[in-house]
Amino acid sequence: PPGLTLVATPIGNARDITLRALDVLSSADVLAAEDTRSLRKLLEIHGISLGGRPVLAYHEHNGAKMRPQILAAMAEGKSVAYASEAGTPMISDPGFDLARAATEAGHPVTSAPGAAAVVTALTLAGLPTDRFLFAGFLPNQQSARRRTLEELAGVPATLVFYESPRRLAAMLRDAEAALGAERQGAVARELTKKFEEVRRGSLGELAEFYENSAARGEVVVLIDRGRLENVSGSDVTRALEEALQTMSV
Ligand code: SAM
Repeated sequence: PPGLTLVATPIGNARDITLRALDVLSSADVLAAEDTRSLRKLLEIHGISLGGRPVLAYHEHNGAKMRPQILAAMAEGKSVAYASEAGTPMISDPGFDLARAATEAGHPVTSAPGAAAVVTALTLAGLPTDRFLFAGFLPNQQSARRRTLEELAGVPATLVFYESPRRLAAMLRDAEAALGAERQGAVARELTKKFEEVRRGSLGELAEFYENSAARGEVVVLIDRGRLENVSGSDVTRALEEALQTMSV
């Protein structure tokens, strides 16, 4: 298709890519990727040859510089396919500014949807999926991380976070402090890969487990919705104070 197609790629298992995504990658005039090496490898696995087509790098650090070039190709009538390093572009990955710029320039923007770790984790975690809040990566700094978790404490939806294995135990401790040790959660690790694993338990149990055995690979953390019965005393007090403040305005 003309314009820009946002192409989802696998999050682990190389065969988790749709037939349409492969069609788009086979036929696009220009390929752009967050990581050109992983895209080339994926094309190779699926027997798609480049046939002289360029593969442009487009990532966080060169987006501003590359956008005009990619937009110019679309203006010439070329079709562009963009893939982030893994999974769905724009889901904790680049692509947003490119898609917005393409839309603003009047080019058609479409997607070839596919894998995303957030949805895969939700399907396996055993927590309600009727409502969820995707919070991506928490801030690096601990105080900011706790503040964000406290903001989310009362949200009546399953919370989903991306996390690095290195920070997992610390993040679970922060979540325990902000949401209470009894709040249920799950850690989904290495989804679609050989060592896929889902561990369920209270935040206290999960924090203790990962403090004692470092997680490897990629992880998604899911936390059960806020319910009055599992909100800790101080949270209730804070919520009441906030409510009273709002009322007195
Ligand atoms: N765009 C991707 C998507 O659609 O899910 C997410 C990219 S983000 C930079 C990478 C994070 O996604 C990882 O740190 C991890 O939290 C999560 N993730 C990606 N692949 C995963 C997998 N196979 N298993 C568990 N988590 C994964």
